[in-house]
Amino acid sequence: MAEKPSVVLLGTGGPRPDPSRDGPATLIRFGGDNLLFDTGRGVVKQLVRAGVAPAEVNPVFVTHHHYDHIGDLHDVILSSWLAGRQQALRIFGPPETRRIVNALLTQIYDKDIEFRDQGEPAIGGWKPVEVTEIGAGPVWESAKWRVSAEYVVHGHGLDLPPAFRRRWVCLGYRFECAAGVIAISGDTIECDGLHRLAQDADILVQCCYLADAEIIDESTRRLAKLTLACGDTVGKIAARANVRTLVLTHFRQKDAAMLDTLAAEVRRDFAGRLVVGADLMSVEL
Ligand SMILES: [Zn+2]
Repeated sequence: MAEKPSVVLLGTGGPRPDPSRDGPATLIRFGGDNLLFDTGRGVVKQLVRAGVAPAEVNPVFVTHHHYDHIGDLHDVILSSWLAGRQQALRIFGPPETRRIVNALLTQIYDKDIEFRDQGEPAIGGWKPVEVTEIGAGPVWESAKWRVSAEYVVHGHGLDLPPAFRRRWVCLGYRFECAAGVIAISGDTIECDGLHRLAQDADILVQCCYLADAEIIDESTRRLAKLTLACGDTVGKIAARANVRTLVLTHFRQKDAAMLDTLAAEVRRDFAGRLVVGADLMSVEL
């Protein structure tokens, strides 16, 4: 039987601190490889809880530069090194990812790195980070899998200056192997890029921030329309793309009843297998 990948939801929350959900981070495990998508609050602790050695994570794929998605990128870089990472850590992300990583390495944690590199020889010296800035298209592949990216739409219709909008590049990712396809929506509303990512996917890990019942005023209406897909569209997106298993993630904090309401809204539009994500849940292909 062919080896199958699994998805581990490391963090299913959003930017607002939620006692029951860490920040956005999703792991694909396949054939000894651990591919990490986003590095939100608590990601390293969650890796350890999931039984994944931080040194074994590689590569890292960044969807966009909101702080809930890259807030613990430094922790992934430094903790993987401290835990014995021997290879360069590969990081893929939108333009300006290199500037962010360089700031972490040369302006924020430069003393920490020099301290451990020079002062603690048992660690074995600094292990570098290799950043590749990407757009839509093929990203990286191994002998057994390949990852591609698509542009997604995440707040591009807000009243932002054109110069900022050009810099605001947001990506979703598609993982393919012989056993099947896993799509990671990133933060997005319904858009062409998301449809291409998700088309015929065995698993779509999809942001789903609010239940329709939480969309109650101008601000939440704008959010659902322009920034993050919610219960009113997520089921339709998955149905249209012919997704087999839809995994919901990136929730604003809500009680169990509201989460049930959200799931019921999505089920109205999507007849496939629905998984309401929770931290450390593993979803098999
Ligand atoms: Zn975002």
